[in-house]
Amino acid sequence: MPALAAKDSAVDARPVVTDGNLVTYNVLQATPAQDEATGPAIETEIEVAKASPPIGPPKVINKVNSDRKVVCLTFDDAGSPAHVRKLMDVLDQHDVKATFFVLGTFAANKPEIMREMLEKGHEVANHSYNHKNYAKMSATDIAKDMKLADDAFKRATGQSFVPYLRPPYGAYNQNTLTAMRQMGYSRLVMWSVDTLDWKVKTPGEMMGHVKGQTGEGGIILMHLLDNKPTLNALPGMITWLKQNGYEIVTLTEMIALENS
Ligand SMILES: [Zn+2]
Repeated sequence: MPALAAKDSAVDARPVVTDGNLVTYNVLQATPAQDEATGPAIETEIEVAKASPPIGPPKVINKVNSDRKVVCLTFDDAGSPAHVRKLMDVLDQHDVKATFFVLGTFAANKPEIMREMLEKGHEVANHSYNHKNYAKMSATDIAKDMKLADDAFKRATGQSFVPYLRPPYGAYNQNTLTAMRQMGYSRLVMWSVDTLDWKVKTPGEMMGHVKGQTGEGGIILMHLLDNKPTLNALPGMITWLKQNGYEIVTLTEMIALENS
């Protein structure tokens, strides 16, 4: 399964702002060796799961196979309300809808931001409760964590996170897929364009990654974190994408355009 070898440069580790407190996560990286080791087991699990309708195995995607020139902007984790609103203002100004993979803690602490995301027409999805590494947890514990996050989101908005999960650090294995299936999640969403916005210093560096990696059906990874070049890069990124013929849509809209 090619998605398992997704560029988990996905280290996805950097300071994360949650409710005003700075939390530092350790750098974690799925090595190619780990991916190869878990790959066959996951394939077996999926084969077994195929025999158990109606809830099929979740599909791992890092892009959507579409002939249309569409891309999806995704933002992970959490940020201060002021910063997240500034990001949403830029999206509004360009009439663009994004997909936010938020932490359950953010939904619990800032429910008004969750509601604003939905009111503005953006999509919101599960990124765990508090950024634990799902590749190091049992399926039962992962399912509990996913539910904890979803419960917080439901309390904030009355809606449920399903059907998408982006695991913290982009780290997952068979246990993650098993838990997703139990919880009714259909897609594990990685990315095809890593802006490295948590690491780079300038909007120009982010744009270099976008220009080099973007293609049809691309999923662009960014973060909601404060004090990153994301906010400054976003207007130019949207303009560049549109000038190059890309339509920016939500993940659900892009999946609807998937080639059959
Ligand atoms: Zn994250």
